[in-house]
Amino acid sequence: MELPFAESYKIKMVETIERSTREEREKWIKEAKFNLFNLKSEQVFIDLLTDSGTGAMSDKQWSAMMLGDESYAGASSYYKLKNTIKELLGFEYFLPTHQGRAAENVLFSALIKEGDIIPGNSHFDTTKGHIEFRKAKAIDCTIDEAFDTEIDHPFKGNVDLNKLENTIKKYTPEKIPFIILTVTCNSSGGQPVSIENMKGIRAIADKYKIPVYYDSARFAENAYFIKLREKAYENKTVKEIVKEMFSYADGMTMSSKKDAIVNMGGFIALRSEEVFKKATVFNIIFEGYITYGGMSGRDMNALAQGLDEGTEFDYLNTRIRQVAYLGQKLTDYGISVQKPYGGHAIFIDATKFLPNVPKEQYIAQTLAVELYLEAGIRGVEIGTLLADRDPETRENRYPALELLRLAIPRRVYTNNHMDVIAVALKNVFDRRDQITKGFNILEEAPIMRHFTVELERVK
Ligand SMILES: *Cc1c(COP(=O)(O)O)cnc(C)c1O
Repeated sequence: MELPFAESYKIKMVETIERSTREEREKWIKEAKFNLFNLKSEQVFIDLLTDSGTGAMSDKQWSAMMLGDESYAGASSYYKLKNTIKELLGFEYFLPTHQGRAAENVLFSALIKEGDIIPGNSHFDTTKGHIEFRKAKAIDCTIDEAFDTEIDHPFKGNVDLNKLENTIKKYTPEKIPFIILTVTCNSSGGQPVSIENMKGIRAIADKYKIPVYYDSARFAENAYFIKLREKAYENKTVKEIVKEMFSYADGMTMSSKKDAIVNMGGFIALRSEEVFKKATVFNIIFEGYITYGGMSGRDMNALAQGLDEGTEFDYLNTRIRQVAYLGQKLTDYGISVQKPYGGHAIFIDATKFLPNVPKEQYIAQTLAVELYLEAGIRGVEIGTLLADRDPETRENRYPALELLRLAIPRRVYTNNHMDVIAVALKNVFDRRDQITKGFNILEEAPIMRHFTVELERVK
């Protein structure tokens, strides 16, 4: 008999999580104005709000923390991280920052000016925010297949090369300080970009002399998918693939809270000394001196170790198979989820799940609340609340998809937890005909309303 799959680690430290009764959850969610961001973490049994900064560090990461060098300048922890980035990712220059959006803030301060155009593949919201804040524009050149949840395309994060070249021609290369490629593509559901596509982007970028930067939060998960899905790479190690991926980039921004498996941190890595010098000025103003930039020495040590562990096949195999395990269970129960399953999360098609809730009553949010009430599980709405209002008409923007995202923290939950999540959703699914009403907004902020919005049940 073939041996079944098992995790590539064992557990050394545990944290108790609290079960609650449905009655308690009814009370708490009401007090939270039906916004799951307002819940206290103790009121949540399984927390799938995000995979950002929620991973479990290893024994080696914790021991690396004890060796942190907290010197203001020239700390050994800085050099350790610098060497890891050079060896693993191939970049000569690097700047630490306190998280991913800080890396964007620093790099974009050096590169973007008003009126610029930044093409890319479904820019992440903080990336788009930092572009628009500088009165520049993000143009989405993702392939069309990405926006159909049912199409089983291996690289739904890919850039449509025709869209990219047409964008460059339309706006002229002078208006485009760089192209940004998000790996994996978070906004299209943790979907990877192929090496072939990266080469194609590089060729176009070279033709028009435009630099390419990678938004790299989940670069290791991207490399894992390349190994599994891109024929020429099946015998390469994840680390070899990672090196090749970045060989087509001029630089990168990183949210270390994702694939580097630390709870806080980020960085910029670069090939050009000139860009490094420009960015350094902003790093010192916004983040801190060159050799710490918003991070403690111990945190840089844990990050260096996390980058190494996060690019090991066995770790990635454990993680991504767990996400797929949940996806498969839901599929078996007849629940419609985005395919293929992404690297860090499962996305449930809420419109198909709750066909009787009108879109004006926030379908995905209604499902998020139902799942919380059912079993104390916290997911996050990726739908109309998140899409905000049109800045001019102030009307709700209804996105193509109303999704409930279940993001899986790294090395935190077991497959028993995945079973609980799947059955809880099945129970809600079985009584979907009785769920006919959603929510009204009581209060909302002018932008990024989903974090603080207050809701009431439609009577
Ligand atoms: C999380 C994330 C960011 C922002 O990083 P923070 O560490 O949350 O500031 C940027 N891009 C992508 C793709 C991300 O997933």
